[in-house]
Amino acid sequence: MDSNFQTNLKKYANLAVNVGLNLQPGQKLIMQALKYGGVPIQIAPLVREIATSAYQAGAPLVDVLWRDDDLNLIRFKHAPRDSFEEFPAWQSKGILEVIENGGAMLSISAFDPDLMAGQDPDLLSQQQTAIRKYWKPISTHIGKNTMNWTVLSIPVAGWARKVFPDLPAGEQEAALWDTLFKICRIYEEDPVAAWKAHLIKLGKRSEYLNQKAYQGLHYTAPGTDLRIGLPEGHVWISAGFKTQSGIPFTANIPTEEVFTLPDRRLTEGTVSSSRPLAYSGNVINNFSLTFKEGKVVDFSAEQGEQVLGSLLKVDPNASMLGEVALVPNSSPISQSGLLFYNTLLDENASCHLALGSAYQFSIKGGEKLSTEEFNARGGNISLVHEDFMVGSGEMNIDGLLPDGNTEPVMRDGEWAFNL
Ligand code: ZN
Ligand code: ZN
Repeated sequence: MDSNFQTNLKKYANLAVNVGLNLQPGQKLIMQALKYGGVPIQIAPLVREIATSAYQAGAPLVDVLWRDDDLNLIRFKHAPRDSFEEFPAWQSKGILEVIENGGAMLSISAFDPDLMAGQDPDLLSQQQTAIRKYWKPISTHIGKNTMNWTVLSIPVAGWARKVFPDLPAGEQEAALWDTLFKICRIYEEDPVAAWKAHLIKLGKRSEYLNQKAYQGLHYTAPGTDLRIGLPEGHVWISAGFKTQSGIPFTANIPTEEVFTLPDRRLTEGTVSSSRPLAYSGNVINNFSLTFKEGKVVDFSAEQGEQVLGSLLKVDPNASMLGEVALVPNSSPISQSGLLFYNTLLDENASCHLALGSAYQFSIKGGEKLSTEEFNARGGNISLVHEDFMVGSGEMNIDGLLPDGNTEPVMRDGEWAFNL
């Protein structure tokens, strides 16, 4: 890698720490990827740059929960078949210790989407169940904005191969880095300033939608005719989050979405996926879900149908929606023309929905609601939060106004209103 690459890597790390987390002096930082077994050891060069930026920002301690993919494969090969609900509970406790004492959390999304293909689906789902159980208390803090957190994608070999299968092996990772730098505005003269301008633009979209207070949305596209109810007091949110203590942060890098929560009981109709979904080391592709009274009552998938079925069955609320997100088809990620097999990137290329939990902060005063109160207002609570992509250049979305009229929100995949 050349010296330009090193400079860009530093800029990327700086963006994660100063725009993503907005790490404050005195805040400890934990880097983790609990859902994937840890931060892959092969990305240590970037992790070191992030640690450098974090210490420069005044972090008293930066810690990392590492993983080695081969160790997980060894477990699947040799561990007793009835042991897949075992989990290193100390990792979850370690993360909680940092965030409950005022620290920040950086989640790393870096994995080979096909790593676990061919492994026993029952064992995979047992492992997922264990991960979700230990992730749950952390996700509760996320839903209440206890701490500043962000998610960052980092290329690894198996993933780069999946995105650029036609490039020679030696060029795939560099091509993925180049794409990532482009869509994360690293090539801009001042990436931090470019991000701030972008966040202001996104904020205007969410303000507009909040003023409208739509009662629901109607999605139409090939294979899709779906009505989603929005609860009273829902709040459209763009990248600009704030912790309960008032620290502004950006939860995803990159981010192009404006999102809120649906009333989990009010989804009706059928929606078809527009991009493959990488889930627990498998790919689910060309799938559709049919909802009645908020619940999936029928589903099919050309690829990964069994994995999709087990996702929907994780708990009773895994088959209900918890997030509605709007992203124009002209987003820079979509315009790259690439399929990323990585939800952080694919969800920012396309309108998406999430199965499972809703973020409590996406309803007015939500951070303070008890589980029962949130539930009563239509919020969904589940061990799952799985985003899936439904938007395309052929999607239209209408908003249902409180007076019963409808108006266009998106046409042919683009915003139907100018600001
Ligand atoms: Zn989203
Ligand atoms: Zn989501």
